[in-house]
Amino acid sequence: MIYLDYAATTPVPQAVADAMYTVLTEQFGNPSSQYPIGLEMKRRVEEWRRIIADALGCAPKQLFFTSCGTEGDNWAITAACWQNRRIGRHIVTTAVEHSAVLEQCRWMERQGYEVTYLAPDRWGDITAEQVLAAVRPDTALVSVMLVNNELGNVYPIGDIARGLAAQGSQALLHTDAVQGFLKLPFTPASLGADLLTISAHKIGGPKGIGALYIGPRMKAPRPLLAGGGQESGLRSGTEATAQIAGFAKAVELRMEDLPGKLQHMAQIKAYAVERFSQIPDLEVLSHGAAPHILAVSLVGWPSQNIVNDLGSQGICISAGSACHQGRPSHVVASLHLPKRTASGVIRLSFGPETTRAEIDACAGALRRHHDQRLPML
Ligand code: PLP
Repeated sequence: MIYLDYAATTPVPQAVADAMYTVLTEQFGNPSSQYPIGLEMKRRVEEWRRIIADALGCAPKQLFFTSCGTEGDNWAITAACWQNRRIGRHIVTTAVEHSAVLEQCRWMERQGYEVTYLAPDRWGDITAEQVLAAVRPDTALVSVMLVNNELGNVYPIGDIARGLAAQGSQALLHTDAVQGFLKLPFTPASLGADLLTISAHKIGGPKGIGALYIGPRMKAPRPLLAGGGQESGLRSGTEATAQIAGFAKAVELRMEDLPGKLQHMAQIKAYAVERFSQIPDLEVLSHGAAPHILAVSLVGWPSQNIVNDLGSQGICISAGSACHQGRPSHVVASLHLPKRTASGVIRLSFGPETTRAEIDACAGALRRHHDQRLPML
């Protein structure tokens, strides 16, 4: 199998699986229990929290485990709107956010909020000026992702934060950094984000575990789950100890020569652009700075057919976001591309393990697909 869909999810290294297995079978204590295996697990959960917080560049007490990136995004939006409920009921976001943000914003609309969805330009870019121009005195929250999961564009979160401060806005700033964590150098403070979401399964960790950074301007964050008081009372529920162990192990592994890994991914992306550019009717859409995501269109060839054809040869790529399950992607739609270009959009995404030989094989399969199949009329 040739796996070129690292933005959808990533393989779990053996060392991560081993760390999780040990916790599941031997170190299975509940961190709330008062006897040694419980106390030991409590100590370990805090150690794992510190490893992840160090990699993100925040204090461990600012990092709260969630069940996934989707949960972190949902929580960030409701927590910020709750804190700023007296400021107003307006949210600024973009039309190219992940559904985890967009659907929660739509839910907020049903609760009486007004949401401004900013449109990107032809290349998928959103400017800080655009965001700041949409902010009003009653804006409670600005939520803009750090890296777009379909295009690889990097959005100017730091500039947005500085602009909000300069305007004297009381709006809180959330960024979905699920595709940015350990792909770009940043810290929540360097971005100026009040809330920031990450997820383990995009960096070699298990699915079903993420974290939300909650910064100092969040004075009294609204708890997500009430109950036994875990996660400093903000997200109750027995800690997913094995998932957290796997998350921390994945972070540790990823941090080993991280600059080398990022350089490798960027070189693979550049090589893929070079190879794919030789395929007739292929247009490169990505010009974003994320090292691991490349969007292209085989203009006139429907993307689902491409994905199926390559899939049958053991090559895994995606037709836009894996979360859309065959439906046209809202991100691609927002670019207003010509119909034949939009319908041919595929996403390739890379990991530290991706090789040039895999890119060559994918380019060959795309070329054959182009030469053998009839294009859409
Ligand atoms: N945000 C972005 C940008 C993503 O790419 C994803 C996953 O595809 C998510 C949020 C959701 O993360 P999770 O799958 O952990 O719920």
